[in-house]
Amino acid sequence: MKIKRYDFIICGGGASGLMLASKLISDSFFSNKKILLIEKDEKNLNDRTWCFWEKGKGELDHLVSKNWSHAIFKAKNFKTKFLTDPYTYKLIRGIDFYNNFKYLKNKQKNFEYLSAKINSIDEKTNVVKTDKGAFFGDNIFSSVLDKNKLSKQNKFPLLKQHFIGQMIQTEKKIFKPDEVTFMDFDIPQKNSTRFMYVLPITQNKALIEYTLFSPKELVKEEYINSIKKYLINLDPGKFSIIESEKGSIPMTAYKFKSNNTKSILNIGTAGGWTKASTGYTFLNTLNKTNLLISFLKENKPLNEFEKNTRFWYYDLLFLDVLNKHNDKGSLLFKKMFEKNKPELIFKFLDNQTNFFEELGLMLTFKKRWFVDALLRRIF
Ligand SMILES: Cc1cc2nc3c(=O)[nH]c(=O)nc-3n(C[C@H](O)[C@H](O)[C@H](O)COP(=O)(O)OP(=O)(O)OC[C@H]3O[C@@H](n4cnc5c(N)ncnc54)[C@H](O)[C@@H]3O)c2cc1C
Repeated sequence: MKIKRYDFIICGGGASGLMLASKLISDSFFSNKKILLIEKDEKNLNDRTWCFWEKGKGELDHLVSKNWSHAIFKAKNFKTKFLTDPYTYKLIRGIDFYNNFKYLKNKQKNFEYLSAKINSIDEKTNVVKTDKGAFFGDNIFSSVLDKNKLSKQNKFPLLKQHFIGQMIQTEKKIFKPDEVTFMDFDIPQKNSTRFMYVLPITQNKALIEYTLFSPKELVKEEYINSIKKYLINLDPGKFSIIESEKGSIPMTAYKFKSNNTKSILNIGTAGGWTKASTGYTFLNTLNKTNLLISFLKENKPLNEFEKNTRFWYYDLLFLDVLNKHNDKGSLLFKKMFEKNKPELIFKFLDNQTNFFEELGLMLTFKKRWFVDALLRRIF
């Protein structure tokens, strides 16, 4: 049987797949390329809420449904409220994002959208096998994460940012809609790194997420009961849960790029586009996609796309420390917010700082833990 051939096959139509597809089809440079996107889900649910900080206007501002310029960080015996300036903290609802790309499904001349489940991607033959047939791609971009590869290796610790979030409507006006609670560590830590993340939409409505940075997920009830307890402390009156979401995002310095080949590039979380020390992925994915579009015009092997940066080493050490001292995560973040300007922290987490700014930040942490982690890596 003859296998249908495409110039580009995009595996997965979530954040990274949709961003890439929309940029490829709207750039005339690629108008003679045949493009296929394969996605298994309908993408008709609000399954996630994306937040990110950004300076000034952004490419996806038309999808932003809420933004904040004030934020709060809390830990035991410490609270700071700050202006996020020059950044704005922006929120995009998953469903708004997916709907925005619905036009992709209407066949463009050079683009096809296939609802199918991918069973395998063969690195040697570049054949993508699905439950609706097999397809050959000259270039393949995959956002389908192979969790086995992550858990089988033991060179890099695998922590997860795992959470359940609930959009809650309350009877009483208990939220401050212009103030996002970035991290509230002033909750029982139970020997791991746990915090509440509160995104107030109105005075009566907020998304509250119980989040951990730790190796193992909890049973569902533990997240839910913790949110309930936190909420009841705020004296909400009657309340109801309007929407829920859950996530488990890998936090690891694992070299995702080692899975790339000359003609297969992993993108999104599967490509290591998640900031390993925080789990933030969305804006980085947009930035990486823009870089990828320029890169593709140079016709180079895809495995030359990812470059090593010193930020990878910082993430590696930070995660080594967080893995070894998981009960001290609250203290680590507290020190970071106590001793540094939030603007510098955001800049650092965006991989935009210079070496001297980074050195200043490093010195605010407990040096022995980091020196130990460094020595363990060297020897
Ligand atoms: C609930 C939640 C909240 C998040 N919030 C934030 C946030 O606030 N800020 C931030 O920066 N990051 C956030 N993230 C992390 C990250 O931004 C998202 O996970 C983002 O969606 C990653 O994009 P992606 O393209 O890598 O993966 P996805 O968006 O998950 O896309 C992968 C796609 O592949 C499809 N797929 C998987 N397997 C197959 C298969 N076998 N066949 C066909 N299709 C397949 C999936 O259905 C999915 O559509 C969040 C994640 C979650 C889960």
